[in-house]
Formats: sequence, C-alpha cells, structure tokens
Amino acid sequence: MRHKALKGIQDILHPETFIWQRLEAIARGVFRAYGYSEIRLPIIESTEIFQRSIGETTDIVEKEMYTFTDKGGRSVTLRPEGTAPFVRAFVEHHLYNEPPPQKYYYMGPMFRYERPQSGRQRQFYQIGAEALGVEEPVIDAEVIAMLSVLLNRIGIKDIEFEVTSIGCSKCRPDYKNALKESLKEKLNLFCEDCKRRYEANPLRILDCKVKTCVDARQGSPSVTGFLCDDCKVHFNGVQHYLKLLNVHYVINPNLVRGLDYYTRTAFEVKSSLLGAQNAVAAGGRYGSLVEEFGGPGTPGIGFAIGVERIISLISEPSAGAKGPDIFLCSMGHGAEEKILVLAGQLRREGLWAEINYDKSSLRSQMRRADRMRAKTVIVVGEDELKKNTATIKDMQDKKEFKVPLEAEEILKIIKEK
Ligand SMILES: [Zn+2]
Ligand SMILES: [Zn+2]
Repeated sequence: MRHKALKGIQDILHPETFIWQRLEAIARGVFRAYGYSEIRLPIIESTEIFQRSIGETTDIVEKEMYTFTDKGGRSVTLRPEGTAPFVRAFVEHHLYNEPPPQKYYYMGPMFRYERPQSGRQRQFYQIGAEALGVEEPVIDAEVIAMLSVLLNRIGIKDIEFEVTSIGCSKCRPDYKNALKESLKEKLNLFCEDCKRRYEANPLRILDCKVKTCVDARQGSPSVTGFLCDDCKVHFNGVQHYLKLLNVHYVINPNLVRGLDYYTRTAFEVKSSLLGAQNAVAAGGRYGSLVEEFGGPGTPGIGFAIGVERIISLISEPSAGAKGPDIFLCSMGHGAEEKILVLAGQLRREGLWAEINYDKSSLRSQMRRADRMRAKTVIVVGEDELKKNTATIKDMQDKKEFKVPLEAEEILKIIKEK
C-alpha cells in the first residue's frame, strides 16, 4: 500500500529546502541585529488559548482549527497562529519581569483546515516577531522597518506596506455603531457569516473575502475617521517614525483586527504578484492580550510572515543550491578503501565529500558527480594508489592535474578555490 501526505500538507524537498534554510538564516540574522531572541513554542496547546485570543466569531476558530480530544479528555488544538502560544508562554514564564522591550521571534508550522489552493496549505509555516512593554509609536515603526529590512534582504520585490490605526477601546465603540448604522439597510446583500457577525462582531464584516460582501461594504465609514485624540497622536507618531526610517507605506483604513485586544497600529505587506491571497505578512499592536492571559498590563506589537508565500515570490528558488565540494571516484578495492578514509578526513574538516558505494564504472561515477553538481572530482585508481597520487579535476574549467594523495594537500587545493 502506498501512502500519500494528507491533503493540503506537503513535503518540502531538496533543493527547495535550501531556500528555506537561507530564508531562515537571513531572518535570524536580522532578528539578532534588532535584539530579538528566539522562543521555541509547542505546536499543540489547549483549545481555550485560541478561542480566547483569536476570538469565537472568527473563521479560524469557527471553522479552521485542528481540534481534538486527547486521551486524557482535554480539548487540544494544533496552533493556527503563533501570537497566542507566545503570549501564553510570555505570561507562564514571567517574561514581563525582564526589562522592556521584551523582543522575541519564532518560526515553525501552523495548522488551519482551509480549502487547499495555491499559496495556501493546511500545514503552513510562519516566521513571527513580538515586541512587548513599549507603548510609544517608535517601536511600531521599528517593527515595521525590521520587517521591511528582512523582506528586502530575502530579495522580495513588488511589495507594499499598508498601515492603519484601528483605534482603542475608547474610540472603537463609536466606530462600531457608525459601521452598523451604515450597513443596516443593506444587510441582506451580505453572506450568512457576515449577517451573524453584524451582531457579534461587526468589524469582521470588513474582513470578509466573499465578493458580494466586498462590494456591499463599499463606502462604509472607516475607523481612521473615528480615532480619539490619543490614538490620533499615536498614529501620527507611527507615521513620523516610518518616514524617518525610510519605510514606504500607504494608509489602508480597511485593515481590521476584529478583537478588542488589538489596538491602534495594524499593518500588512501585500504583493501584487500573488492574486487574492496577497498578504505576505501581517501584524499589529495588541493592548490587553497579556492581561487577557492573566499577566500584568503589557502592550505588544508583532507580525507574522507567511513563509510559503514568500518562497513563491522568489524566482528560481533553487538557484544557488550547491553541490558537493568534492566527489571522490575510485577504481579497484584498494582505491575504494583509500577514498573512504580520505572522505572521512575531509568531512571532519567540514567539506561536503561524496564517494561511490558500488562497483560502477568510472564513467558512471563521473556522471553521478556531474549530476550532483560537484565542484571538484578526484580520481584514484590502482595506478595512482601505487604512486600515492590522485588526479584532481575542476568541474567548471575541466582542468586536470595530479596531487599527492594526502588529505592535507587536497584540502589546501579545495580551500584555495
Ligand atoms: Zn482611541
Ligand atoms: Zn461576508
């Protein structure tokens, strides 16, 4: 019986894994430069954590979570996003006792039971960052600037930063009322989900991807027109620092975070190359999420990057994937044993050394070296073995010459290249 990976869940193979590693290495480098430490979070949490933080009325919680009962009768969920597990850990380990800002990043798989389509997997990967303990708008701008630096380093082009303020618990109720008022007359044009959201959480209507809902909500008031004075000052500050840090952005008042813990700054990075699911990263400020999880009042701001979407924007993802540093070909039993030992010595020096494992001909060994894109090939036959030499061949310029059959000599030649 042949098995397949589950629908919407994919293996990531070489050489694509090469680009994943490169992307992760760039991210780690950028986070380090901005003083973010890594936090490794479990992929499974108690279901409650997501219900509370993401919200009962959201698509994620209503339809998309991988939730099941474990053998102990607890309801557990494969994490659909990273912020809730992060805040749970932040409170559990009293990380708020560290001097602010507390800056962390994470990377790993998330799970959502969605209809699989291009750029959308049921197991997908995110790289996220969270900065806590600072209310001032300068950190909002710095977080966005860091994201911009990161995407830039990866080589992502044709992206746009969209920024808005979604207000606070003081000014949002007025906005909610104004929004409901404006939608009241045309509620019948909306999908069933939106009709339900109208009472439970009207802001989420702004988030609905259904075409008729997108059309029907045209012309409704935007939250930026309802900001209180404190929120206005904060949003102006964010924009001031974004300009100072040379981050190009547009204001999109329709970005929403439909939950009360999310306050003020919200942002997304969109790519014109991606169609409807065009956000490659999204983030925002959360005012009371830490309190919601039982910690002391600590503001936070963060973002998450969709790794698959980023990778889909990298042209020729596998270009630059490298082959072995050296491929050692052998003819005859004595030579075989010699290169086995030699390969071990080179590998201890950190070189990627490949050898042949069967009795195949020199021609087929060379073919394999070529297919693996080996940079250098060494050939050892009975004759070379007797004279303690080897023929070394540069696979780029095809030049050949003899070298002493000693690990140090060979190492020297390869390191010179
Ligand atoms: Zn406000
Ligand atoms: Zn809708």
